[in-house]
Amino acid sequence: MIIVTEEACKQVIGRGDAFSAVESVFAAMARGDAWNFPVVREAIGYADALYGFKSGFDKAGLSLGVKSGGYWPGNAAKGLTNHQSTVFLFDPDTGQLQALVGGNYLTAVRTAAASSVSIVHLARKDAKVLGMVGAGHQSTFQLLAALEQRDFEKVIGWNLHAPDLEKLAAIAKEKGLAFESVEREQLAGEADVIITITSAHESLIMKDWVKPGTHIACMGTDTKGKQEVDPKLVAKATVFTDEIAQSITLGEAQHAIASGLIGENDITAIGDVINGDHPGRTSESEITLFDGTGVGLQDLAVASAAAKLAEQQGMAQKIEL
Ligand code: NAD
Repeated sequence: MIIVTEEACKQVIGRGDAFSAVESVFAAMARGDAWNFPVVREAIGYADALYGFKSGFDKAGLSLGVKSGGYWPGNAAKGLTNHQSTVFLFDPDTGQLQALVGGNYLTAVRTAAASSVSIVHLARKDAKVLGMVGAGHQSTFQLLAALEQRDFEKVIGWNLHAPDLEKLAAIAKEKGLAFESVEREQLAGEADVIITITSAHESLIMKDWVKPGTHIACMGTDTKGKQEVDPKLVAKATVFTDEIAQSITLGEAQHAIASGLIGENDITAIGDVINGDHPGRTSESEITLFDGTGVGLQDLAVASAAAKLAEQQGMAQKIEL
């Protein structure tokens, strides 16, 4: 078996590799060639931590495995990332452990790849203004990936703690783009593409603030109780997701579903759009919303790619179990 460290993952997996891996696995899920297994997520009653497993099998890409980890809120004070995870890959023919892959960097690039896949397939081609809601750990990965998908001319941002937007401003500046810190209502009214990536438990973007033709990627809500946008906005938009079962239970759509504003049949797997089985956006004025809940298969897809590339480039450590 091999070990691929966090550092090796950073060196071998770029945004393009992550995009291809995530787009392929979303397509495989929609074709019925890849399955996520039930997620386990538990408060362990120690260090305020949430710990769990995300597991699945991609029969097309032959990735079998599990991402194990969770959220340790006290880590930042120790100079560590709050989200910690490791991916275990198994040989689907024998069940033998194939690889241990650091999951922290991969989680960020695979989550950014998911919103980018949604932008490529759903946002208007002429999108010029990108609106970022949130400025935490994931936000810089989200911004860098999104900027590669459309010919954006300006980035606007909002965060609970406005000074944290400085890191997004620095990226925009590096890319030669204007950056402005704005209030949420202004952001929603100006942006052609909005990415929400916060840990909020309330509506940050209201239905009537969003202009026609906007694409919104809701990436922060991955647990029951979390929320980033107005359920009425979810009901007004055409909704796409990585996995419908997660979208209705722990994704952004959970609130619109619970209040009866939409039903499960109103939500389309983005894989159907990738596979050409759903048209995606059908008009320039339609509001599209991607509910990016985060599935284990995304982690397995990028970890498999990382393991292959690290082995090819001599960056994997080989050990006997
Ligand atoms: P982080 O802790 O580094 O940043 C949290 C962000 O949320 C900050 O911008 C903070 O200001 C904002 N925030 C917190 N409480 C808020 C509130 N009440 N109202 C408005 N904003 C608030 O976290 P991160 O690593 O950047 O992750 C952001 C979110 O994305 C988390 O909720 C995380 O669980 C989620 N996430 C989702 C996926 C996925 O696949 N969908 C993957 C990774 C992380």
